[in-house]
Amino acid sequence: MFGYRHAFHAGNFADVLKHVVLVALLQRLQQKPTPLCVLDTHAGIGRYDLRSPEALKNAEFEDGIARLYDRPDAPAPVEQYLAAVRALNSAGPLRHYPGSPRLARHFLRPRDRLILTELNRPDHAVLRQEFADDPQVSIHRQDAYQGLKAFLPPKERRGLVLIDPPYELKDEYERLVTGLAAAHGRWPTGVYAVWYPVLTRSLANRLHAAVEASGIRRILRVELCVRPDTERSRLNGSGLLIINPPWQLDAELGETLPWLREQLVQEPPGAWTLDWLVGE
Ligand code: SAM
Repeated sequence: MFGYRHAFHAGNFADVLKHVVLVALLQRLQQKPTPLCVLDTHAGIGRYDLRSPEALKNAEFEDGIARLYDRPDAPAPVEQYLAAVRALNSAGPLRHYPGSPRLARHFLRPRDRLILTELNRPDHAVLRQEFADDPQVSIHRQDAYQGLKAFLPPKERRGLVLIDPPYELKDEYERLVTGLAAAHGRWPTGVYAVWYPVLTRSLANRLHAAVEASGIRRILRVELCVRPDTERSRLNGSGLLIINPPWQLDAELGETLPWLREQLVQEPPGAWTLDWLVGE
């Protein structure tokens, strides 16, 4: 069941998009002083060593974070994201890459909370160590979709849910849409960000259609393909469906995506997309 190891993919172009959007979301949510809760349902191990055999196997980070790491001219949310990656590397050369938990933790204010669920036993153990004795982070070895039921709505009534499945199970789309609809039913005002891979357009469309059919409204779609979305056998791009995006997130991402595309695009090139999958 657990073939997927994120260590092989850490810092790749898909992580860059996901993590830039995560940072942009957190910063917008933090414009209000009231505390917030972040639930990261598929946490991974929190921090990745880019010199590990896993990361070096295909060196996917070379076409991701490594292309951006030293850039001085990034738009605001990318700059904030890069600052967090540089902080993890003590401002030295790129070696460590923050997963979504470490990145979210970097931006937490003293009264914000982070809840992590990770089902894989060894990964869960690593994650516990990464955040040992951190009173703002709680870690659970629990199924993501059970966690949505257990932890929502959070007592803060404000916050973000990141859903980042590995999509290795045949029924992942169904589980995702059912879990998302139930979570949204329990907490309709929460902000949800659902990551998805783009292999071919028709596969991505299937997920979009299923989410659309759930009846949930206010869904922003942000996508970046580094290659054309025509070949089924490889990851050509990725996207996020963002439910209840904070005000002006769409405008900010609209300014950020062309820059990101320029840095990350491959040959032959792909395109970026930003639109409302479902409006108000
Ligand atoms: N969100 C992480 C990040 O951005 O750094 C990467 C997560 S990785 C794509 C997906 C993770 O989900 C893997 O670590 C895997 O073990 C875990 N996982 C798979 N199925 C799960 C489930 N049903 N519930 C919780 N975690 C699961």
